[in-house]
Amino acid sequence: MKLAEIFSSIQGEGLYVGVRQIFVRFPKCNIVCAYCDEDDLAYSEWSTPAILKKIGEFVAAVPHHSVSFTGGEPCLYAHHILELAPQIPLPLFLETNGTLPEKMASLLPYLSFVSLDYKPGHEDTFEQSLELVRHSNSYIKWVLCPDSSENELERMAAIVKRVVPRIPVFFQPVTPCRDVHETISPERILALTDLALRLGLSVRVVPQTHKQIGLP
Ligand code: SF4
Repeated sequence: MKLAEIFSSIQGEGLYVGVRQIFVRFPKCNIVCAYCDEDDLAYSEWSTPAILKKIGEFVAAVPHHSVSFTGGEPCLYAHHILELAPQIPLPLFLETNGTLPEKMASLLPYLSFVSLDYKPGHEDTFEQSLELVRHSNSYIKWVLCPDSSENELERMAAIVKRVVPRIPVFFQPVTPCRDVHETISPERILALTDLALRLGLSVRVVPQTHKQIGLP
């Protein structure tokens, strides 16, 4: 199967920031974000035994919290993950953009944690994905850009309040990359956070901490 990379590092985002994880990173995505830092063309072929062997080496070297399937969009590779999942001796963590709920549903029996992105413009699949993870150990992540708006926040909040009101929501100020050349201002972060709180969301602001300490 095609993998962008497999490596051991620290989770730098969201509710499980700071835990040691093995990252199985798939290439390519089904949507386009202006701030995406993934390189579609950089991948290599891995067999299932080779991936399991690599995971085994990481686990033997140091205890890990979980294995994170990330990307790109890992749900594009649900059939590969279904092949790997029963053979991995650690809890499984999915980092998804939330736009492929049917694929994600097939993975849920194997997942212990889900990091679900809110991508403005994809509210229908976001709501379907949220319905699927409402009873699991999951959280929402929204990358805040300079043009992130109150209107987008209100659309997200309406869905969250309808489906799973107390789920943790993480606002992640964008790390400038590709077509985004500056991050969101502190004033805008505070304004959006205050509105989220007034709308009743359980919101916290956490930037990409792994990049601040020089980890992949
Ligand atoms: S969802 Fe993630 S991988 Fe896909 S384009 Fe956006 S940032 Fe990149």
